[in-house]
Amino acid sequence: MPELPEVEVTRLGISGHLVGNKVVGVCVHSAKLRSMVPPELAGVLTGQKIQSVERRGKYLILKCSAGSLLVHLGMTGHLRIVAGGRAAGPHDHFDLLFASGVLLRLNDVRRFGSLHWTAADPAKHKLLSGIGPEPLTGAFSAEYLYQKSRGRKVAVQPFIMNSAVVAGVGNIYAAESLFACGVLPTTPAGSLSAADCAKLAAAIKEVLSRSIATGSSSMDFCREDGKLAYFPQTLGVYDREGEPCRECGGKIRRGRFGNRSTFFCPNCQH
Ligand SMILES: [Zn+2]
Repeated sequence: MPELPEVEVTRLGISGHLVGNKVVGVCVHSAKLRSMVPPELAGVLTGQKIQSVERRGKYLILKCSAGSLLVHLGMTGHLRIVAGGRAAGPHDHFDLLFASGVLLRLNDVRRFGSLHWTAADPAKHKLLSGIGPEPLTGAFSAEYLYQKSRGRKVAVQPFIMNSAVVAGVGNIYAAESLFACGVLPTTPAGSLSAADCAKLAAAIKEVLSRSIATGSSSMDFCREDGKLAYFPQTLGVYDREGEPCRECGGKIRRGRFGNRSTFFCPNCQH
C-alpha cells in the first residue's frame, strides 16, 4: 500500500513532467474508483496549466489556476508518465494528456484510489482539513507529540497512525519507527515520557526520510511496462515475524490492533 514516502517519491518523479505543462485532454477509461471519477474533470482541467504538484498526507495535489485535482492512490494505485497514444491496459483508469505529448496515467488494480476536484483552497477541502502536521516539517516536533499524547490511553502505534495526529504515517513506517526508537507498539500513548516523544518524533522523520531517499534513487516513473513495484528497502521488523532481529538476533513477533498487524522485537522494544 502506498504510504507517505511512496506518494512523496511519486510527487518528485512526476512534477518535472507536469509543472508548466498544459492539459490538452482528459480520458476516463473507467470511472469506478473508491468514489466515481468526477464527471466535470474534462471540462475544468482541459486548457489548464499545472502550476505545482504538492502533497498533503497521502494526497497529491495538482494545482491549476481554476482549482486543484486531488489524487489518492488507495491500496494499489500508481501514477506514471507514458508517451501519448499508448493504449490503456487493464486497470488503467484515467489519463491526463499534456501539450508536451506525454500522459499522466493512473493505474489501480483494487480501485481504492480516488480523484477529487476543488475550485477552492485545497487545504480547506474536507479530505485535507482535518489532517495533522506533516511529519517532515518543524510543526511535528517532540513537544507537539508530547502535548498531543497527554491523557491518551490508546496504544502508541494506532496513535501515530491517526492522520489527525500526524499526516501519512501508515502501518509499515509506524512499526519501523517504533522499532528504531525502542518503544513497544502497545505502549499507551499517554505514558510516553518527553524523552520517548523526542526519540519517536526523530525516528519517524528519519525512517520516512530514508525511505524517500531510497525511493527517489530507485524509481522510474517513465517505465512503459506499468508494473512499478513499490521500492525495495530493508525493513527492520515489518512483515518479518519469526525472523531474527537485525539488532539482537531474537525473534521478531507479530501483534494486532483490530484488523492490523504490527511487528516488533520484544528484546529491543520496551
Ligand atoms: Zn531485537
